Amino acid sequence: MGKVPRNRPGSQYDEDQLGFGDIFTEHMLQMVYSEEDGGWQTPEITPLQNLVLHPATMVLHYGQQVFEGLKAFAGPDEDDILLFRPDMNIARFTKSCDRLCIPAPDQGLFMEQMSKLIRLERDWIPKQHGTSLYVRPTIIATDTHLGVRPSRKYLFYIILSPVGAYYPEGFEPVRIMVTDKYIRACRGGLGEAKTMANYAASLLAAEEAHCAGFTQVLWLNAVDKLSIEEVGTMNIFFKMNNEIVTPALEGTILPGVTRDSVIHFARELGHPVVERQVSIEEIVKAAENGALQEIFGSGTAAVISPVSHFRYKDHDHMVADGKTGPVARQLFDELTAMQTGRRSDPFGWVV
Ligand code: PMP
Repeated sequence: MGKVPRNRPGSQYDEDQLGFGDIFTEHMLQMVYSEEDGGWQTPEITPLQNLVLHPATMVLHYGQQVFEGLKAFAGPDEDDILLFRPDMNIARFTKSCDRLCIPAPDQGLFMEQMSKLIRLERDWIPKQHGTSLYVRPTIIATDTHLGVRPSRKYLFYIILSPVGAYYPEGFEPVRIMVTDKYIRACRGGLGEAKTMANYAASLLAAEEAHCAGFTQVLWLNAVDKLSIEEVGTMNIFFKMNNEIVTPALEGTILPGVTRDSVIHFARELGHPVVERQVSIEEIVKAAENGALQEIFGSGTAAVISPVSHFRYKDHDHMVADGKTGPVARQLFDELTAMQTGRRSDPFGWVV
């Protein structure tokens, strides 16, 4: 196994300049599964290292893989390390594994080993407002075999990456493009699992949207190309007629941890929230008659991402006068304050 060059905390990066996902800490967690040897083997924390894979390794051919993404924050007290609802990420990881015929690691062991790794790498947690240590648990099929079947060997690993504020220039609204040309997922497919194939399926639409000057793609349902699903790698919310509406989870949408947190937290703050089917035609009509007040995305990376414009069938529609709406701002401020221990946590979400 080849060694990866080390980046030392403090010397190799400036917290002001941290981007997303290019710097990695010195250690990783590894745990091997082998059917032949009776299942999961003893987990090990090792130096961060390259993986040496046979060219016939199954994940490289048939995409049997699952991953997660969550963040560790430095708390107000120097010694505190805060995780936001890690139990939800671990539960989603298990569900994704079930869908991909992968034996999921024990959830308690997952939490224990992830915490151990984060504690070991605590000096890598950036301190500046908006920064965090991104945690990427991953599982891949490692059998060497070219026939299509579930693998009999897996590698579960966790790597850590100090990341910067998602919005270096501030909390700016984005422009999104509705696609009725491509679809991300369909009923019975992989949409609600966090697996690499969904991201491969999204790339071309995202590239075309970027070329047309948009930040994200708004995905529609595969069957009627009308109901709204999610936006880029975020869930989506609309504020219309003083009610917050988000598409219901019906198997094609990734059940976001931030989505669930927004639903509960918005209700706590006194906003009515409804989960139901939302059609793009309803949103266009609401934008035209003034009922549409705000659109925003939710996800671990950006937390809340307000939308200023959307394009559907070559028509551009402006939202909230092209500015960040008050609900998006409030949810962003309150959720980020809670994640970093700067605000009370009425739900017991922060670990
Ligand atoms: N949808 C997709 C496709 C995603 O990749 C993500 C990011 N994990 C989300 C939604 C938001 O999920 P979460 O709030 O758990 O980050």
